[in-house]
Amino acid sequence: MLRNTRLDTLITLPFALMTVGDGLRLYGLDGDKRLKTFLDMQLKLYSQVDAEETALLYAATALAVSQSPQGLFHLQRSMQVLSDRLVEALEKYGGKLLMRHTVEKIHTASGKVTGITVCNPKTGRVWTEKADEVVANLTVQNLVQLIEQEKKVRNHSLSLKGYQRRVDKLPEASGAFVIYLGVKREAIPTDCPPHLQFLYDYDEPIGENNSLFVSVSKPGDGRAPEGQATITASSFTNVNFWWKGTNEDYNRLKQQYMEEAIARLGQYFCLTPETIIHREAATPRTFARFTGREKGIVGGIGQRVSTFGLFGFATRTPVKNLWLVGDSTHPGEGTAGVSYSALTLVKQIKANR
Ligand SMILES: Cc1cc2nc3c(=O)[nH]c(=O)nc-3n(C[C@H](O)[C@H](O)[C@H](O)COP(=O)(O)OP(=O)(O)OC[C@H]3O[C@@H](n4cnc5c(N)ncnc54)[C@H](O)[C@@H]3O)c2cc1C
Repeated sequence: MLRNTRLDTLITLPFALMTVGDGLRLYGLDGDKRLKTFLDMQLKLYSQVDAEETALLYAATALAVSQSPQGLFHLQRSMQVLSDRLVEALEKYGGKLLMRHTVEKIHTASGKVTGITVCNPKTGRVWTEKADEVVANLTVQNLVQLIEQEKKVRNHSLSLKGYQRRVDKLPEASGAFVIYLGVKREAIPTDCPPHLQFLYDYDEPIGENNSLFVSVSKPGDGRAPEGQATITASSFTNVNFWWKGTNEDYNRLKQQYMEEAIARLGQYFCLTPETIIHREAATPRTFARFTGREKGIVGGIGQRVSTFGLFGFATRTPVKNLWLVGDSTHPGEGTAGVSYSALTLVKQIKANR
């Protein structure tokens, strides 16, 4: 760290333990409700928490104000392009991508990773893959469930227990309810920006049912056929709501959220049975099913001062040669963010060798 510290890096030191709320107070802007609400809306998407709780240095990076060119930008043809490039690169350099396979166990011996057990649920085939290094692209909550417990290696078990305790103490993570609409282009107002955020009750926190974060496809961006468009709207939700009751309760809740979201979107877009071509929704149960994330949590761990930077989860784990990437590690969520965490790890592994 010391070797990499430059004089201008030291400028950030006084801000290292501050939140955005502290920053606003420092500038006498904490009474500016409009600015604070704007920051809450922007930050909650990335850091999971509002301006009062978000670490200031994280916010500076997430909102791209820490270096020029300043400000956020939109990736043409959406984040899917970045994901597609990652798959292309993986295959180009000899990697093999197995879809619909589950890693059921991460094996260790003497505190060091030795391999994984993989299952193909479709064929029922289960096999063990030996490995010198394992990079887990999971939430840290999922990771601890997969690591084999070794009873005989005392120090190893102790450090794993400490790691597990840290995971258990993490504040509850957010879930998302997402509605995906395929519409006729005339449903979209002219000059509609590609991203919108709606807040319904200015005096309430941005939680359950109080906000919608919306993305709209642009003509010719590949997301919808000519003359049509996609509208994707998401809101925060408590994951526990979705795991209670019977299947009928779940379907009723999903239908109710879907109708409410369409009614709210209808205040801005022209949504009628004639303009809506396709609709579907995703709940925490959907995210759990398709991404394996525990309870369907999204967005990584919140970027509070206590869980950001030095206090966050590292790519190193208590198990030697078992690494963690993804949105539980620095710099947190986002397709670009998790790619950055993976890039950092590649450099670490190369340096180790
Ligand atoms: C509604 C919503 C909208 C978003 N919008 C954006 C956006 O516009 N831009 C942006 O940058 N980010 C966005 N994000 C955030 C982004 O999707 C996440 O931060 C990112 O996908 C996290 O990547 P990850 O690799 O850490 O985890 P994941 O994307 O969850 O990837 C982990 C992968 O591991 C697989 N897996 C899990 N368990 C196992 C197992 N045991 N064995 C084998 N495989 C397993 C999963 O199937 C999954 O494919 C959004 C998130 C949500 C929920």
